[in-house]
Amino acid sequence: MAKLEILVYPDERLRQVSQIVKAVDSKIQNFIANLKETLKSLPGCVGIAAPQIGRFERIIIVDISSRPQHKNHGHLVLVNPVILFSEGNSVGREGCLSVPEYTGKVNRAKFIELEAQNEFGSNVTYQMEGYEARAVQHEIDHLDGKLFIDRLVGKRNDLKRRMDI
Ligand SMILES: [Zn+2]
Repeated sequence: MAKLEILVYPDERLRQVSQIVKAVDSKIQNFIANLKETLKSLPGCVGIAAPQIGRFERIIIVDISSRPQHKNHGHLVLVNPVILFSEGNSVGREGCLSVPEYTGKVNRAKFIELEAQNEFGSNVTYQMEGYEARAVQHEIDHLDGKLFIDRLVGKRNDLKRRMDI
């Protein structure tokens, strides 16, 4: 299975708004398998959105289970995710596969309720909070052409260069 190339800022394609997936058919499922494989090949990454690999459809994967200190629902494939309700605020540092050299502080809702379809086309709803909710909000932003650097809390001296690269 092909590991797919990640689009990196300032690639204009990252600004494209992704389209709704009309049907979770075998083509979409094949694509999801590739997306999973790509995410798995990137150690430490907790999420990926289809547009990051140049496919502009509303599909994200989030899996924070490698950080069990945070409450989570395991490996989540979310097709056409929509946030129905959000509450609270929390500021935390985020990074992104598409902005590989920096991290920055971003304000996100603390708690969200969302609906989506899973990889089999069934409707699912989740309530989530904290780090998992942050990761989902970050990935949904990609579907709308937004990056975490658009949402930085402080304009000055907030972006940090990653020291581990
Ligand atoms: Zn990202």
